Amino acid sequence: MAKEYHPDLHPGDKAAEEKFKKINEAYEVLSDSDKRANYDRYGTADASGIRWDAESGFGDIFSQIFRDFSGFGFGDMGGGGRAGPPPGDNLRVTIKLTFEEAFFGSEKEIAFQRLVKCDTCGGSGAKPGSSPIRCKTCGGRGQVVRSMGGFMTIAQTCPTCGGRGESIGFPCSKCRGSGVMKERREIKIPAPAGVEDGMYQRIRGGGNSGQRGGPYGDLIVVYAVEADHKFKRRGLHIYSEMSIPFHIAVLGGEVEVPTMYGVSKMKVGKGTESGSLFRLREKGVHAADGRKGDQLVRVNINVPKSLTKEQQEYLRRFEEVFS
Ligand SMILES: [Zn+2]
Ligand SMILES: [Zn+2]
Repeated sequence: MAKEYHPDLHPGDKAAEEKFKKINEAYEVLSDSDKRANYDRYGTADASGIRWDAESGFGDIFSQIFRDFSGFGFGDMGGGGRAGPPPGDNLRVTIKLTFEEAFFGSEKEIAFQRLVKCDTCGGSGAKPGSSPIRCKTCGGRGQVVRSMGGFMTIAQTCPTCGGRGESIGFPCSKCRGSGVMKERREIKIPAPAGVEDGMYQRIRGGGNSGQRGGPYGDLIVVYAVEADHKFKRRGLHIYSEMSIPFHIAVLGGEVEVPTMYGVSKMKVGKGTESGSLFRLREKGVHAADGRKGDQLVRVNINVPKSLTKEQQEYLRRFEEVFS
């Protein structure tokens, strides 16, 4: 279908262009396991309350929150595909959240060790004041061209200098030429309300620094959310079950329902059947973007197991009146 609606075949055709975009989106969803999982669970590639994109598990909401992190020196973005020293490793940290913390959002401090640029040589690995030597293998270009036989050639990052085009004359004494040093880091991560088990956030440049001037890898924050025995969550909605007395199911009335915001009163109509679902508006997650989920309460009818003589007598009379 992408071939059929390709814009090159329909110049100026807005409808075809729109269709092509949709096809691409669909392809992205199907090829991205996270988006696919969201699509399967929520019927949209966007998880409830939280937008997902290719860059991060959370997209917009998070990138706004994490914009502040540039102040921590998580800069040095390092573009993909360029020649030069390879980037550092991505780091992965798991943040454990209770059901309640995930529901309301919470700030968590994490501590981890990472490699940062050496503060003596600035990451170059060369002794300050020493001059680098031009790489003999690539002649300073950082790339070598290899013949694959016939007319085929491929350009490769120079294996000798790692793409820098030069080698170190005198290595830095502090980092012994690696350009990196260990650092312990503590940062506060604001987990937004509505975070779900298995969601992750990619903090660009938050991982290890690459060696000898290589860019930083990313920090990947994965959330592990505890289950709750009373409540279940799905997106912004919360689900619970409760038993109501037999007479309220028959006559109707008001019952008290536990919610994440305390006890709420809920009206039960006359003749409520077991398994009926009631909705408490806006008792679900209140997401940062202003959307509010509901609480859905499944009602089970508590059939009395033991009755007093008097109660049994009433029920017999009840039976007589109706037969
Ligand atoms: Zn150094
Ligand atoms: Zn080289």
